[in-house]
Amino acid sequence: MNRLFANLPTTVFEVMSSLARETGAINLGQGFPDDPGPEDVRRAAADVVLNGYNQYPSMMGIPELRSAIATHYKHWQGVDLDANTEVMVTSGATEALAGAILGIVEPGDEVVLFEPMYDAYLPLVRLAGGVPKFVTLQPPHFRLTEEALAQAFSPKTKAVVFNNPLNPTATTFSDENLKLLADFCRRFDAIAISDEVWEHVVFDGRQHRPILALDGLRERSVKIGSAGKIFSLTGWKVGFVCAAPQIMKVLAKSHQFLTFTTAPNLQAAVAYGLAKDDAYFNDMRKNFARSRDRFTDGLRTLGFDVIPSQGTYFVNIDIAPLGETDDVAFCRRLVMEHGVAAIPVSAFYAEGAVKNVVRFCFAKKDSTLDAGLERLARAVRQTR
Ligand code: PMP
Ligand code: GLN
Repeated sequence: MNRLFANLPTTVFEVMSSLARETGAINLGQGFPDDPGPEDVRRAAADVVLNGYNQYPSMMGIPELRSAIATHYKHWQGVDLDANTEVMVTSGATEALAGAILGIVEPGDEVVLFEPMYDAYLPLVRLAGGVPKFVTLQPPHFRLTEEALAQAFSPKTKAVVFNNPLNPTATTFSDENLKLLADFCRRFDAIAISDEVWEHVVFDGRQHRPILALDGLRERSVKIGSAGKIFSLTGWKVGFVCAAPQIMKVLAKSHQFLTFTTAPNLQAAVAYGLAKDDAYFNDMRKNFARSRDRFTDGLRTLGFDVIPSQGTYFVNIDIAPLGETDDVAFCRRLVMEHGVAAIPVSAFYAEGAVKNVVRFCFAKKDSTLDAGLERLARAVRQTR
């Protein structure tokens, strides 16, 4: 067997969701909303299953969706993309990440990774034979610094895998930080593989800035998105890749032997959804921000040290002030003894052992959040 996979643990999301199912815990671990997703978008998918075309779509994605993606990003992020040469549909952002990393990285190439990092990045870099170079971001701000980038980049750097807004920290990078990263990518001739799946889930008036809109990055970026996050339909696994034509040509080759294509009804429904008016997207954000506030206030009232959430479905707490030094043990106790599943953020670090941060998903009904807070309150009372 391939030792890379044979030696990997099961992902923390699956582990915590299984424990939640087994114990009947409230699952605030894996990031998925309680909300079933917009009914009109789900109906559009059902309609194509019953009345539409259900054979293999074109490997680049159905034309309606590719052009909806280009139009959507022009409208929301001001970027001009050619739907025919610069946009491809994938089976989730995960496939897009795999295709980009396998399509760009050759054995021995260095790849800069920022930890905490989404758990798929490192195994995919290793699968490609890449050599990871870590930049460790520290709580509570998780900022890039010039010194840290200077240590990680070298003439062997082929790519960086970047995530903004950042899961699991729920932080967004400042314009200064984006500019700094862009400077390093230009200087070291590196490609920015930019995981922007949380681009729409940002709060407090924040405006997402795509990496490929930065000076000099248009020709050296791969922008990755996911309809799962935009429409609260995480199980759909419809992803988007945007890149300049010379990069896209190669990404298309890796995509053709990963999945080749994606369910046509889901593609058609996402095309319909991306064209929804601004109110849908603004309301979606407003609703998630309201849940964030409800849950954050509840955590603070219980005395937890909350790291504010600027985007994503998540909010983190610092458990160090509770005298806790092991997030994994803390989360295990939380789910087994107190009936709340959360995610230990150390699972997103390979080197820079941060063990005092725990992530909760607040994309839930008020009643779920309140029940979770009630159980946390009991846990706090018992440990005092
Ligand atoms: N990247 C990040 C940062 C994510 O948080 C997720 C899933 N939440 C993904 C990629 C995977 O997205 P998809 O489900 O579309 O594969
Ligand atoms: N991205 C989701 C999260 O961060 C989980 C995705 C998965 O389960 N693979 O919770």
